[in-house]
Amino acid sequence: MPVKIALDVDGVLADTIRSWLRLCNERFNMNLTYDQIDHWNFWKDVGIKQEDFEWLFNEAWYNWRAMPPTEDKIAAKVEHLKNIGKVDIVTGRSEDTMGYVEKWLALQKIDCNEIVVVEPDMTKGHLDYDVFIDDSPLNAIDAAERGKTALVYDQPWNRHLAQRDNLLRIKDLSEAASRIRSLLNFKK
Ligand SMILES: [Mg+2]
Repeated sequence: MPVKIALDVDGVLADTIRSWLRLCNERFNMNLTYDQIDHWNFWKDVGIKQEDFEWLFNEAWYNWRAMPPTEDKIAAKVEHLKNIGKVDIVTGRSEDTMGYVEKWLALQKIDCNEIVVVEPDMTKGHLDYDVFIDDSPLNAIDAAERGKTALVYDQPWNRHLAQRDNLLRIKDLSEAASRIRSLLNFKK
């Protein structure tokens, strides 16, 4: 059985928060910076309502052509992961933005085995994957506590997470690939 890898979109493939920040600063006349987004529900502490947070997130996706990827050569890096195992894109994106996400994936030439959409507020650890590549501290902890491997895609909002055996921080998708390879060698 090939190793099953769940690959997140927002904050892992797409640099959604960069678009979100630009929109938020314009709309609310703020000066928030990337590094200020240093915990998961940061928007509560800067006085942004949940509906505005989500609305700006959707707005960022409506403008999908301007959505930056997190890394250069991202399609090749996903392809590399596909050489190691079965890679599904697993996202909690809302239904009305999924169409834009799919267009964006095509534009970026990112190919995966399947696209799986979960409820926006649902954690993913119970899904049938061995490895989760995710920026959400909630998903990382959930997956690790279920005995799966969580590869935490390094972002300011997950830097407080301590590493442990099956919860490892990765700087980029190349590091994800090498981590998974060494994990598989270890199990043999
Ligand atoms: Mg994410």
